[in-house]
Amino acid sequence: MRVLVTGGAGYIGSVVAAQLLEAGHEVSVLDDLSTGHRDAVPAGCRLFEGGIRERGAEVLAETGAEAVLHFAARSVVPESVAHPERYWDGNLGCTLALLEAMRTHGVGRIVFSSTAAVYGEPESSPIPEDAPVRPGNPYGASKAAIDTALTEYARLHGIGAVSLRYFNVAGAYAGLGERHDPETHLIPIVLQVARGLRESVAVYGEDYPTADGSCVRDYIHVADLAEAHLLALDGCRPGEHRVFNLGNGTGFSVREVIDVCRKVTGHPVPAVSAERRPGDPATLVASSESARRELGWTPRRPELHRIVADAWEFHTGRTAADTAAG
Ligand code: UDP
Repeated sequence: MRVLVTGGAGYIGSVVAAQLLEAGHEVSVLDDLSTGHRDAVPAGCRLFEGGIRERGAEVLAETGAEAVLHFAARSVVPESVAHPERYWDGNLGCTLALLEAMRTHGVGRIVFSSTAAVYGEPESSPIPEDAPVRPGNPYGASKAAIDTALTEYARLHGIGAVSLRYFNVAGAYAGLGERHDPETHLIPIVLQVARGLRESVAVYGEDYPTADGSCVRDYIHVADLAEAHLLALDGCRPGEHRVFNLGNGTGFSVREVIDVCRKVTGHPVPAVSAERRPGDPATLVASSESARRELGWTPRRPELHRIVADAWEFHTGRTAADTAAG
């Protein structure tokens, strides 16, 4: 199939682009390179540099795309709290422009990167897809609004849409890993400590109602997450908006994650207690039963040790590359 990957120079988009190529699809990437990296776009993809509003329609026309996998977005929760307008415009506004461009050019399928952040502070755990959508920050709210728009575009314009609600994605695949600047995510930050780039990791809050007081999250390997996108592409049904959670169904506390990172890296990784981070729910664990049952998805790399080990291999490779580059 001819597919367009928006945000294909980013962490998850690049891994999905790599797997789409491996599966024999013809892959184009549209990315403004504001947070992505040109060298993350897999060889074999055609890269269009620019924004969705500026170039989305043109790129759909030129590539003859039959489907869009939409990753391009802002995704930093604290930034969304400080600058909500960036999230309404950059996430919701750009996606509406993309949907209109798809409608104009008769592109009938979209797989969308949604997030567990749409659930806010959940009532029960693990979280099923029919749990109330009550985002606790503008990032989650912008993604929830896009989910609503997708439901309407499916109902009124007949597109086939699938939203995949990611829990905590980590790990690396085919030399593609997480490279945010500044980094805000737990596992890459801990690995920066292990690489000697930071002195310690801060544990944001140890007074949550969890076993050890730190927040519990469901970590999923980026390669498993990417595989779900290929299944979702096949699972787009005209006129339907389908929603699936993607996680392993097992929660790990911040303290437990740091311990696994110590084992994988052999580094003591000093950890210091810090204040809670605004907008963080205590526990987010997925029920991915629907994705398993309806898409036939099975995460093949569920062990946290493996997820961290693959991220570590990627990061130590980058240390070598950074050193060689001088
Ligand atoms: N976290 C932490 N120290 C850090 C970064 C994150 O304690 O330096 C915690 C954060 O408060 C959350 C968990 O680790 O409870 C996962 O955070 P991350 O930013 O990786 O993902 P999120 O769950 O926010 O999507």
